[in-house]
Amino acid sequence: MTSTAEDEVVDLCSDLIRIPSVNTGDPSTIGDQEAVAAKYIQQKLEEVGYRTEYAESVPGRGNVVARLAGADPSRGALLIHGHVDVVPANAAEWTVDPFSGAVQDGYVWGRGAVDMKDMVAMTLAVARDLKRRNVIPPRDLIFCFVSDEEAGGVYGAEWLVDHRPEWFTGATEAISEVGGFSINVDPERRAYLVAAAEKGVAWATLTATGKAGHGSMIAEDNAVTRIAEAVARLGRHEFPISRTATVDAFLAAVTELTGMEFPDDDLEGAIGKLGPVSKIVNATLRNTANPTMLSAGYKANVIPSTAQATVDCRVLPGQVDSFKAEVAEIVGDGVDIDWFISPPLEYPWEGALVEAMKAAIRHEDDNGHPIPYMLSGGTDNKAFSRLDIAGYGFSPLRLPADLDFSSLFHGVDERVPVDALRFGVRVLDRLLVNC
Ligand SMILES: [Zn+2]
Repeated sequence: MTSTAEDEVVDLCSDLIRIPSVNTGDPSTIGDQEAVAAKYIQQKLEEVGYRTEYAESVPGRGNVVARLAGADPSRGALLIHGHVDVVPANAAEWTVDPFSGAVQDGYVWGRGAVDMKDMVAMTLAVARDLKRRNVIPPRDLIFCFVSDEEAGGVYGAEWLVDHRPEWFTGATEAISEVGGFSINVDPERRAYLVAAAEKGVAWATLTATGKAGHGSMIAEDNAVTRIAEAVARLGRHEFPISRTATVDAFLAAVTELTGMEFPDDDLEGAIGKLGPVSKIVNATLRNTANPTMLSAGYKANVIPSTAQATVDCRVLPGQVDSFKAEVAEIVGDGVDIDWFISPPLEYPWEGALVEAMKAAIRHEDDNGHPIPYMLSGGTDNKAFSRLDIAGYGFSPLRLPADLDFSSLFHGVDERVPVDALRFGVRVLDRLLVNC
């Protein structure tokens, strides 16, 4: 027997994709479509009896929340959050209209199909079904849908943490995007990668100062030369491999499943044999620093007194302070560093929630093996960590063996299998009634 949630998840996903809630990152070009999406969700929640709250950080940037009371209020609440915004799509490159939500060839197509209107639709379908069935979950469930994840959550999760913290009262753990999807280990068995950690984002603005002067003169203290040297040193620097608890747990699980070994003296080589997933894992072995922006000067014959560069650094859990010190040493004297930090996260691969996630996957897939991994990017879990909420990446999808899933994120012809959505609904439902 299929549930109502399974029956409606595809329509919900298509409806959401048809709302072009594009987040360009430039507030002047962003309309009100995130608000339209949030209000669509609000209406779907209220239709089955939820009380909701809705808030716009600025006009058009909508966020909505609902709570389902659990049996044991003394247990911390579980937050299930999803972002309603999507990155832009160039229709000329696509097989279908990226905002059509078309259902064809067993897939729902469109921008957001995997990032992350799939999970938003699954969550909404399960939330509606729990309410219709009058289910009392073991602990409070908080369903929250937010704007602006694709541009750092300033008008979404970060804003809510600062301005609506009461929406999350009692929450101790969360689940959301970029995890819970399957990767075939062999034709029969699938690993389900659950994100238990995220690297931190550390953007460094380097400023070199020197002596301003005429470009024809001998200049020993040139800010442009100094910033160029600092950027080159930092960009070429290879940070050492550092094995974290999550990466170790990932590798141990892969060894158990496949017999593959991961020796310290050729870790990257061994990981390279893992196929498409190796790119993700290799990015979580070490800290990185990629120069991305440079700016200095205004006229060919004027030596400027300052020069600036931006370096996109990504930092492993527990290493922010030591990393900052290391970078300062590499760039050297005469260069100031200004940091924007969004912290790394790492949570235990054990406990009641983790066990419930594992059990829910295994129940729906006899050959499914949940294993933890670290995300090299960041999600709204970083914002919610400011409220001491431990966030995991768990948007369960059972995927076909030949689907290159990670390339669909922000990619052309983004699409999600209909069967995967229905699978995800079954897993989420099982998780939420047993969490
Ligand atoms: Zn996303």
